[in-house]
Amino acid sequence: MALDAGAVLIIGGDGFCGWPTALHLSSIGHAVTIVDNLSRRAIADQLGAQSLTPIASPPERLAAWSRVSGAHIDFVTLDVAQDYDGLAALLDRVRPETVIHFAEQRAAPYSMKGPTEKRYTVDNNINATHNLLVALSSVGLDAHVIHLGTMGVYGYDGDGLEIPEGYLEVFLKGPSDRMLSRRILYPTNPGSVYHLTKSLDQLLFQFYARNDGLRITDLHQGIVWGTQTEETRRDPALINRFDYDGDYGTVLNRFLIEAAVGHPLTVHGTGGQTRAFIHIQDTVRCIALAVQNPPARGEPVRIRNQMTETHRIRDLAALVARITGAKISFVDNPRLEAAENDLVVSNRSFLELGLKPITLSDGLLTETLEISLRYADRCDLSRIPAQSLWRADMAADAVPST
Ligand code: NAD
Repeated sequence: MALDAGAVLIIGGDGFCGWPTALHLSSIGHAVTIVDNLSRRAIADQLGAQSLTPIASPPERLAAWSRVSGAHIDFVTLDVAQDYDGLAALLDRVRPETVIHFAEQRAAPYSMKGPTEKRYTVDNNINATHNLLVALSSVGLDAHVIHLGTMGVYGYDGDGLEIPEGYLEVFLKGPSDRMLSRRILYPTNPGSVYHLTKSLDQLLFQFYARNDGLRITDLHQGIVWGTQTEETRRDPALINRFDYDGDYGTVLNRFLIEAAVGHPLTVHGTGGQTRAFIHIQDTVRCIALAVQNPPARGEPVRIRNQMTETHRIRDLAALVARITGAKISFVDNPRLEAAENDLVVSNRSFLELGLKPITLSDGLLTETLEISLRYADRCDLSRIPAQSLWRADMAADAVPST
């Protein structure tokens, strides 16, 4: 284990992706500091929808990690969207080589619930990102920023064109009919206020990379599935969260918990939506690879597509049904989105760095046995239906019932 792998600040390190990332980077020798305002836990209380897995408090988690690994992780409770001075002082004190930024409200349905949630999502996400960029620049810290973005910035109305890693080369007729080329950010097409904030983040990154020379990697991540990683399995108090409620639960978690409690798998619309997926273990590995491969100062924002496979939702339901014996039920779709889409995405950059993906067909059974069946008695079925409508005039009966 390298003991001088560099200090890493993990903003949003108490969350679903941040916690296993913190453990993994600590296990390979990084000095890790987590920063989190515990807003995810507060929103879970507000929604009355807790993680299916029993997650420990931050002090219990940190003590368990020290016990099993001998390593220490620092934890700072701070709202990076509200407390700019606190963030700048922390960056100046820790002087990390890398800052990993997970600290955003990340549920599309929650971001569409109503005016309060829309405004909170924009205020929190944009301020968090902007405060971080301003603070790095003002304290004169040349840290590599790694941000968790989303595949959703590209939109989901694809027709089979392969989405490149963040940039598109366009050719336009210039003076005297000469063809000129430009490399532009791939046009964004956000499908929710949450995805809109990730699209706006991209412009903040582009500006601060060019204007202030910040070194930034933006990871356009697919839907993360799976719960445990090598490190979170090492002690019950290290277990990761598993959200299955209508706001924060992603589609695969919904299917798995429905199967575990003997409920039909609820497929929205025709289930013709195609989405990109990645296992949480691969998320953690990709982030470690991103840490080890920073862009040079003056380089444009490095964008990598962090996903390993795509699936049509009805095929995914069929896969879960095959493994678990569950039935499938098609319900009205509460979202405004294309009923059917293709999604072809380049993910060459992580494969070239050596990522060996875990596939759904390999990992799904373990996930079912280890998590959904094991903790099924903690499931509150009333929390599964999506309650957020994408537009106020959408009929209330469009909400799928379970
Ligand atoms: P999460 O909600 O579990 O974790 C986010 C963490 O950030 C939480 O612990 C929360 O308390 C903290 N946080 C939020 N606002 C903060 C603030 N202002 N100050 C300090 N801490 C704050 O979400 P996640 O699933 O771990 O997602 C992490 C990141 O990855 C998000 O930016 C999300 O958009 C992105 N992402 C996630 C997925 C997925 O499937 N989970 C897919 C694509 C992208």
